[in-house]
Amino acid sequence: MTSTLEFLPVPAQVLERIRATGRDAFGNAATPQARVAGLPLRCCLRLSRDGERVLLVAHRPSEHGGPYAEVGPVFVHAEACEGYRTPDTFPAEFRDRRAVLRPYDAAGLMLDGVLAEPGQSERLVGELLADPRVAQVQVRNVVAGCWNFTVRRAA
Ligand SMILES: [Zn+2]
Repeated sequence: MTSTLEFLPVPAQVLERIRATGRDAFGNAATPQARVAGLPLRCCLRLSRDGERVLLVAHRPSEHGGPYAEVGPVFVHAEACEGYRTPDTFPAEFRDRRAVLRPYDAAGLMLDGVLAEPGQSERLVGELLADPRVAQVQVRNVVAGCWNFTVRRAA
């Protein structure tokens, strides 16, 4: 099942622009900072480690625009990183987190979402994307709703 899906972090060209300009796409200053380990990083889809410097920036994960295309805060590495190297695999360090799974249709409109308990996200994302109306699923944090990554069928 996972071989037919694609797990998408913040696009590389977006990260390059933020790191090169020191600003996100919405004009906010992107200042490198040291934070506690364990932050979900949206550049390489793992949790931050001790001593890693991160940026807190605004990101709009939907490329469609429209009323459901929310902008929200994400942590990314302050310096260039390797990105997400296994895009056909559910990010291992996100498997055991609670999550809200939000499906969207091809026009970017949100369909019925699901709350996933630890260990359920990978299976539930696959079930949501088995529905032909669903074009992509966004995996988000439960309380703040912050986007973690997007899943779609592999082209
Ligand atoms: Zn990274």
